[in-house]
Amino acid sequence: ELVLQIDGVTKGYNHGKPNQVTVLQGADLSVAKGEVVALVAPSGAGKSTLLHIAGLLDTPDAGQVRIGGEDMTKLSDRKRTAIRRGEVGFIYQFHHLLPEFTALENIILPQRANGVGVSEATKRAQSLLDQVGVGDRAEHRPAALSGGEQQRVAFCRALANAPRLLLADEPTGNLDPATSDRVFSALMELVRGTGLSAVIATHNLELASRMDRIVRLENGKVIAA
Ligand code: ADP
Ligand code: ADP
Repeated sequence: ELVLQIDGVTKGYNHGKPNQVTVLQGADLSVAKGEVVALVAPSGAGKSTLLHIAGLLDTPDAGQVRIGGEDMTKLSDRKRTAIRRGEVGFIYQFHHLLPEFTALENIILPQRANGVGVSEATKRAQSLLDQVGVGDRAEHRPAALSGGEQQRVAFCRALANAPRLLLADEPTGNLDPATSDRVFSALMELVRGTGLSAVIATHNLELASRMDRIVRLENGKVIAA
């Protein structure tokens, strides 16, 4: 069962000039249920562009994106937004948590926006924080947390609505190596525990080797490593 299918995706930017820079040029990537794929490429190769297209944050110039077998390019904006919120979780290099809310509230909010009741959302938020080892930080605001703890909370927020696909762009890239290693392990445990599919972009080959499969992005195409 394929959760994500990217077929022949092309994407370019013209930077306001006539000459278009083509970033993706017929990129293909399929991810099976429960599969965790490492996306490795140098800076500027188009990793963020590919993840944004996979996560319905951006649209390709050509090609297809399917999530759960459904063609996303054919959907209305409204339906795409609903799928993005309900079925895709996104993690960035920086946590992007809301500074005025506590860790717990940051994980409750997306669930409330998705129609989940207060008590159920609270229970799930606390359970997620417990699973990544920061249950005792629930009432802290992001600024009171360490970098590693902030990312752990961001992982919980990405999984708040139990998505079927997780997309992560250098999720431990702003942490020192030892913290990065521990925080990445917590992420992998969370992902394995829920059986969701993931594409995780990283420069770190040791972390990449702990995933199921490594792909590279070269000349706008995804190739097996
Ligand atoms: P990576 O994540 O691998 O570093 P990106 O996908 O961020 O790569 O960027 C790939 C290329 O596309 C870069 O040359 C970048 O400058 C360009 N690019 C990315 N997003 C935009 C945008 N919104 N507008 C113009 N150019 C962009
Ligand atoms: P750091 O960025 O500080 O290394 P991590 O997220 O890697 O943070 O922290 C590892 C774990 O240890 C986290 O679950 C964190 O809550 C916990 N932790 C950190 N400091 C303490 C402490 N003083 N007492 C108890 N647990 C702690």
